[in-house]
Amino acid sequence: MSEFLLKPRICFGQDALSALRDVSAHQALLVTDQAMVKFGLAARVTEILGERGIALQIWDDVVADPDIATVVRGMKLMDSRYPDLVVALGGGSVIDAAKAVIFALAQTRPDAGRQRPCFVAIPTTSGTGSEVTSFSVVKAHAEKLVLVDPSLLPDIAILDPTLVASVPPSITADTGMDVLCHALEAYVSRAASDFTDALAEKVVQQVFRYLPTCWRNGQDLQAREKMHNASCMAGMAFTNASLGITHSLAHALGGVFRVPHGRANALLMAQVVAWNADYQGQCDTEAAHKYAHLARLLSLPASTAREGVTSLLVAIEALKDEMTLPAGIHGTGVDGEAFERRLAEMVGQALRDSCTPTNPRTPDAQALTELYRQAWSG
Ligand code: NAD
Repeated sequence: MSEFLLKPRICFGQDALSALRDVSAHQALLVTDQAMVKFGLAARVTEILGERGIALQIWDDVVADPDIATVVRGMKLMDSRYPDLVVALGGGSVIDAAKAVIFALAQTRPDAGRQRPCFVAIPTTSGTGSEVTSFSVVKAHAEKLVLVDPSLLPDIAILDPTLVASVPPSITADTGMDVLCHALEAYVSRAASDFTDALAEKVVQQVFRYLPTCWRNGQDLQAREKMHNASCMAGMAFTNASLGITHSLAHALGGVFRVPHGRANALLMAQVVAWNADYQGQCDTEAAHKYAHLARLLSLPASTAREGVTSLLVAIEALKDEMTLPAGIHGTGVDGEAFERRLAEMVGQALRDSCTPTNPRTPDAQALTELYRQAWSG
């Protein structure tokens, strides 16, 4: 038996934020960060909640890649004035912090007899899909841990592209490549299904069509909307199909060297596609044929699996180039000696990462070491 879980309610489009007007509550907690305050996005949310007469507590200093200390801080805050509504407004970091806080409080204070608050996720990057996933990524020291539990799923996801217009080009590129990586990994995952394949195929087409426009002109709301929807659809795919070793390697790289999540995926993705396809060998794996199918959907040459994989690899590199992303990890400022010194630690983390078991090809330490070294130079 297989399963495809559908949650939350998704409100989308240029006026989607108005869906917040339908939510009833007495006491809300807004989880957000300083960028949301600076760009006036937090004010748009507080205004709506204020009009509804909902008492509001604001936690507005969540930092990128939240760690355990951040979660503990959030738990104390939420415990002090327990809300019946939590609104997370921000990128994946903010949404994951809110998820982890709600989850941890329910685990550590089950006796409090409190009802889980209504949880509304409002993504302001088009990247993680966290608004529809049962995952939360939290850093513990230099390791990114992936919490997986259905109770982490928000109740309502609000996809309003006007909230993404302020994302600068470099973050648009990183997060957009994250979307592509989610789709590619869900598509060839051991847990892929007809349902997740349909979503992943649509996402790959939308990313190649609209991401460059978003990067060139962040104010193009039509392109922003397409990427925002693609990000969410990719989340729907991978929360059901899980991911693969691009993510395992990226989590470890981001945990040890603080490379932004989407960028880490962008720099590892092509190497993993080639490895999953057995590109240096027969190039006849199931993954190779699925990649070739994606190339066909993109109207790229793919008369054989090898030609299709080649086309997809060229297209990924061209997309990175167009958005001036570095070719390899060496271009991110990570020190070469430190990279070699901490390689075994990263490989160990990647091997035990919860995304590894669903990768179509089972890696060992040697394979992961080689993939990191290839991605170093790009
Ligand atoms: P992010 O949330 O870390 O945000 C990156 C930067 O963009 C931050 O400085 C933020 O303030 C800024 N920003 C966000 N929205 C903005 C806007 N509208 N205008 C201007 N600046 C804005 O980046 P992300 O890629 O969205 O999230 C990454 C985190 O999510 C990582 O920790 C990653 O591991 C995790 N993640 C979670 C899931 C999941 O399913 N839960 C999936 C993938 C990744």
